[in-house]
Amino acid sequence: MSTMEEQSLKEELLAMDRRHLWHHMSPHNDHPVIFAEGQGSWVTDVEGNRYLDGMSGLWCVNVGHGREEIALRAFEQMKTIAYTPLMQSHLPAIRLAEKLSGWIGGPEYRIFFSNSGSEANEVAFKIARQYHHQNGEPTRHKFISRHRAYHGNSMGALAATGQAQRKRKYEPLGMGFQHVPPPYCYRCPFGQSPESCRLECARAIEEAIVWEGAETVAGVIMEPAITGGGVIVPPSGYLPAIREICDKHGVLLIIDEVITGFGRSGERLGHHNYGITADIVTMAKGLTSAYAPLSATAVRAELYEAFRGAGDDTHFRHVNTFGGNPVSCAVALQNLEILEREGLVERAAELGEGLRLRLAGLAEHPHVGDLRFFGFIAGIELVEDRASKEPASADKVMKVLSFCRSRGVILGKNGDTVPGYANIVTAAPPFVTTEAELDLIAGTLREALESL
Ligand code: PMP
Repeated sequence: MSTMEEQSLKEELLAMDRRHLWHHMSPHNDHPVIFAEGQGSWVTDVEGNRYLDGMSGLWCVNVGHGREEIALRAFEQMKTIAYTPLMQSHLPAIRLAEKLSGWIGGPEYRIFFSNSGSEANEVAFKIARQYHHQNGEPTRHKFISRHRAYHGNSMGALAATGQAQRKRKYEPLGMGFQHVPPPYCYRCPFGQSPESCRLECARAIEEAIVWEGAETVAGVIMEPAITGGGVIVPPSGYLPAIREICDKHGVLLIIDEVITGFGRSGERLGHHNYGITADIVTMAKGLTSAYAPLSATAVRAELYEAFRGAGDDTHFRHVNTFGGNPVSCAVALQNLEILEREGLVERAAELGEGLRLRLAGLAEHPHVGDLRFFGFIAGIELVEDRASKEPASADKVMKVLSFCRSRGVILGKNGDTVPGYANIVTAAPPFVTTEAELDLIAGTLREALESL
């Protein structure tokens, strides 16, 4: 195709896009890039421009783009049987549930399949409430979450989310969700430094439980490290302290592994980084590397037993048509096989370290307030001024991201363009990224910052 033909095709597609498509999370006057192909860590737009996919889509295409063996597995499964509801059973769901239990490790879990991270969290909330009901504590219905956290777009998952700008105009949301400050060491909400820290952030969760009345609290939900809300990595003692607090008060610990799971943290799951066991684990994104929609809620076998009554009233009354679709489960199995065969969990840990070393030089830049890393995730917190820590303007953050994109590197930012929310630039590339591609990310980011 000639350049002119390409240009007119793009104009035509953009006009159709504007006429028919409603984009996610975007002002109407945004100019979308129309992507056409992907291979490895790279994506190509309809004009043939190539970009390094430094965010793996939305933190999800972990095994990289263009994996033919996943496509073939989906094709085979569609030919064999494309659908069975999960009131019945099918081979890919059985095999995947078994495999997931192995990935989580520790005690026995039962796996409930849905389609998205939001749904996996809704399922976790419903299971937690019903469990307490059937376990003789029917007043336990509240959930504690953290400010800045994101747990999904539906009315319960959004209620668990701790970011006002995502909730405004959609309230009232699900009831019974309380928020406490996050373990945000760079801007410690309790005014502490690493030397004076007594894990006040963990104690805030205990205080919320006590002041709400432990007999009313069903669960605590958290990511191992807050990802989309700003790459906020807790001190090493935080999660073990939360585990103890939950045990002490009979509260279930729900770990949201939607982003951190399947190698992104450098371990199989993000809570493994802290050596704790979860009561409920929610997973999506990297479960299929986004080749098909699928999510899972893993629940400790003891909880599952509380749903085993003889009557019609004790089982979990929750169904979704597509959750655990055989094609999605087959895709997930192939994806996990790739992660295992190619050692990509270990590779993600190495790449994370490689990215850390390459970005370390940015620490002294006048607009870099803090550099944070969790497995193969980087968060670069931009500020106007290092001394005052005033968050960089949305405009500056957009300039950095646009510069990188113009050089063919896609990076992300957390949240909306609200000052103080969106000043953290993020990177979470596919696990097949090469050393040279890490150099490209770090070099481009450095130039982008220098251009400010
Ligand atoms: N939990 C976390 C931590 C997430 O980052 C997301 C999505 N980015 C969700 C839940 C919701 O997942 P989904 O978009 O698949 O509903």
